[in-house]
Amino acid sequence: MAVGHQPGSGGIDMRLAVTEPGVPEIFHSLQGEGVSAGKPSVFVRLSQCNLHCVWCDTAYTWNFQGTEFAHRDDLPNAPKKFDRAAETVDVSTDALAEQLTSQSCRRIIFTGGEPLLQQRGLGELIQRLKAFDADFYIEIETNGTIKPIGLAAELIDQFNVSPKLAHSGNAVSIRLKSDVLGFYARDPRANFKIVVANPSDLEEVHALVAESGIPADRVWLMPEGRTPAELRAREPWLAEACLEAGYNFTDRLHIHLYGDTRGT
Ligand code: SF4
Repeated sequence: MAVGHQPGSGGIDMRLAVTEPGVPEIFHSLQGEGVSAGKPSVFVRLSQCNLHCVWCDTAYTWNFQGTEFAHRDDLPNAPKKFDRAAETVDVSTDALAEQLTSQSCRRIIFTGGEPLLQQRGLGELIQRLKAFDADFYIEIETNGTIKPIGLAAELIDQFNVSPKLAHSGNAVSIRLKSDVLGFYARDPRANFKIVVANPSDLEEVHALVAESGIPADRVWLMPEGRTPAELRAREPWLAEACLEAGYNFTDRLHIHLYGDTRGT
């Protein structure tokens, strides 16, 4: 079911990604990754990100025309850019609350982009969902560079924190915030999902986990890949690395089920 912007409706406007122009990317599917993999969930994809990973599979949330970010899908002399107006839609928290409370699934996953860039709206929306039904369970997918504040910090049930390694192409100064990672390491609501591309990334993973004080049993390593073949190629050595270090392993279930497509 789609929800469009409703001029004059109350609440705070939030900027969402779209499945097609004007249609916000809100969908019911199985969580594909990490601690909640396999659980039926309603996903709400927010637009905009403060990082710019070269392998990001949702670059339509941030890699807009007029920006100079690099991405793996760029062709020589032809960077792949998205039209900001066509790829985003503003939806009020009133309209979002109406849609989310009308669905039977009570596990909501706010993803992006980086959802915590819009945490004022998030906090208000989550408060309304929980007031409607205390069974709402709220997960946030975050890149671990922003601390939650206010209502968002209080009401989010689960933080799926995904700090980025050097192969993401982001400068270390913007992708790793030690105080923020330390905050999440101390919060039992947080688990950590780290995308790994090559065996040589593992030393970086171990250092990040140790320096941030993250318990190994709250770490999930996930192979980088946007096709089943790419994932399968990396899984054998990554599974071994998880066994050796005491980390958890996660596949990307949705890629195997649905491919790299929007709204799944
Ligand atoms: S942090 Fe996530 S949404 Fe942002 S660019 Fe990286 S992979 Fe994409």
